[in-house]
Amino acid sequence: MEANGNMPATLQKHYAFMVLGTFLAAALILCPSCKQKQAVSPEQRKTEMTEKIIKSDEEWKKILTPEQYRVTRQKGTEAPFSGQYDNFKEKGTFKCVCCGYELFNSDDKFDSGCGWPSFSKPIANDSVKELMDNSHLTTRTEVICPRCGAHLGHVFDDGPKPMRLRYCINSASLKFEKKK
Ligand code: FE
Repeated sequence: MEANGNMPATLQKHYAFMVLGTFLAAALILCPSCKQKQAVSPEQRKTEMTEKIIKSDEEWKKILTPEQYRVTRQKGTEAPFSGQYDNFKEKGTFKCVCCGYELFNSDDKFDSGCGWPSFSKPIANDSVKELMDNSHLTTRTEVICPRCGAHLGHVFDDGPKPMRLRYCINSASLKFEKKK
């Protein structure tokens, strides 16, 4: 066995392989392009978006104005022609004022003359939840946020063609985000 300096040749070779191996392993772990991207399936994304948001009344009161709280958490209705989005023409997205969930697109907003923001359809099929409402001695279809349960308004069947739907929504339930 030949010796080079104080270390035998076989030991030197073994040591060199160990250093090289460690270096390659570290490079694989640290290199961003070598890391496997975290794949998020549409189903997972949908689950994240529709994950329920539950807060106590006290918590809602802290983040909402009294009018927003009355309408969204106590199924109130704002006075007609009083809401900030009734006569409102800007382009963008209307989100839930409580949780920020995307509800309606300005492209589907129309002037119904009823005194509340009106939409012919939600931004996506599952972006609002509809419930039967038998209050006030009549039967209506209530519209709520699927993520936090906020009361939004009602949907009626006297809207424009082809769907003939009118989502009659309180401005106090909405938060507008301008198109970028
Ligand atoms: Fe919400």
